[in-house]
Amino acid sequence: MNPPTKFTIKITMLLAALIAFFMQASISEASISIKSKTYYYQINGSTTGELKAQMRKKGPNGHWAYAVWFIDWDNEGCDVSVKINYIYPNWTNINKAPNSVQLIWRKMIRALKKHEKNHARNGIMAGRAIHKNKCKNPGSTIHKWSAKDQEYDRNTGHGKTEGVVLP
Ligand SMILES: [Zn+2]
Repeated sequence: MNPPTKFTIKITMLLAALIAFFMQASISEASISIKSKTYYYQINGSTTGELKAQMRKKGPNGHWAYAVWFIDWDNEGCDVSVKINYIYPNWTNINKAPNSVQLIWRKMIRALKKHEKNHARNGIMAGRAIHKNKCKNPGSTIHKWSAKDQEYDRNTGHGKTEGVVLP
């Protein structure tokens, strides 16, 4: 019975050493986490005119949609977390609308999602840059990528040139 017991002890020690090694690795290596949440506000109607009026009224700050990103970091280990919130319109009675209007809407939503994803990408780039700089001057990095967000909206008219339009 002796040899197997010794063998078992050896394995246990090896496992303990491995666990210690992995714990150390996760402690010494700073991490970056990216999480996103999507929220919807409800709209209804049967014409693009009605939908546009509802989005103007109910959309976030009068926009049709929004992507906002937040970055947290801890100065000790430089663990960085990027949180992205998306807000989109949800057309509740779309199935009752004419096919032609549904098609136009779906095309616009595709362009809108692409546009908001590009905003989110700026936040992710900011998070990666902060992580890469080991959390030095995070404020200026955030400022730089926020400016890119604004520039992107200026250049595309908040997505109009990319197809975020309804007739
Ligand atoms: Zn935009």
